[in-house]
Amino acid sequence: MKRFLGLLGFLFVVSLNAHAQKTKKVLFIGTDGTRGEVLRSIPTPNLDLLTKKAIFSYDAINNGITISGPGWSNLFTGVGESKHGVIDNSFKNNQLRDHPDFLTVIKEQFSDAQTAAFYTWIPVGIILDKTDLRVEKKYSQNGDAYVHQAAIDFIKHEPADATVVYYGDVDIAGHDHGFYEDVPQYYEEIVQFDRYVGDLMDAIAARTTRSEEEWLILLSTDHGGHKTGHGGITLQERNIFVIVAGDNVTKREIKPKHPGVLEQDAPLALEDLAKYGYDQVPTQLDIVATIFDFLQIDSEKYGLEGKSLLK
Ligand SMILES: [Zn+2]
Repeated sequence: MKRFLGLLGFLFVVSLNAHAQKTKKVLFIGTDGTRGEVLRSIPTPNLDLLTKKAIFSYDAINNGITISGPGWSNLFTGVGESKHGVIDNSFKNNQLRDHPDFLTVIKEQFSDAQTAAFYTWIPVGIILDKTDLRVEKKYSQNGDAYVHQAAIDFIKHEPADATVVYYGDVDIAGHDHGFYEDVPQYYEEIVQFDRYVGDLMDAIAARTTRSEEEWLILLSTDHGGHKTGHGGITLQERNIFVIVAGDNVTKREIKPKHPGVLEQDAPLALEDLAKYGYDQVPTQLDIVATIFDFLQIDSEKYGLEGKSLLK
């Protein structure tokens, strides 16, 4: 019996080591102004493939200010505006120095980790550490396609321990034409974003070290949109999406408790979240908490306000 237990113990240690040998990698893909409700109704084959091994919600919400500055600050720091202090795109009086972005924390925790960021909305560099920026090109200069190619090359060939890739074109189409699935320009940009995601997944698959790695891939957006704008509190403006896909993640979709009760263009005040069943759906604050859980970084130490979706 003793020998049998000894063998079990040996096998247990071996299997733990086999698991521990995999190098963890994190990729966060952000797309500006992309409504979850619209993603659900447009064919997005690459996102569909990703959600086969993901915890995800197309009914997630921005439960803060539906503007890019605060939205991306929520996503990258894991705390809300009462802590990071970003309430608009001026970033005036922000407290970001006390609430570092997750790439900065990863560098702090793992000194040899390679972190990188690719983005076309330059103020993202106020939230992220500027030294992580790899290529600079604005969305207004057809930046998405350019930055995308640089990100693909990077993901394919570099260690890429933790990477952020941001796209801006969906939001531009929303502002120019409307944030709706029946608006051809908005529809087209979402289809293009889906292709970008497919390319990034191909880049990961093409890594020579892929079989020795465990990847966590997170996707989200800063806000939704109503008519041709955002910044208000309608469900359309709060409506975002969150996807957390990974090698060891089992498919689970999170929906509001009473779906369809609240019209998409109706206001959703924060005190009414429970009333309309939106108190249990993911928020932007859950992204960093999930990354920290995956990498076993102590969220409490950084005062994170979200919850890990891997739990
Ligand atoms: Zn916008």
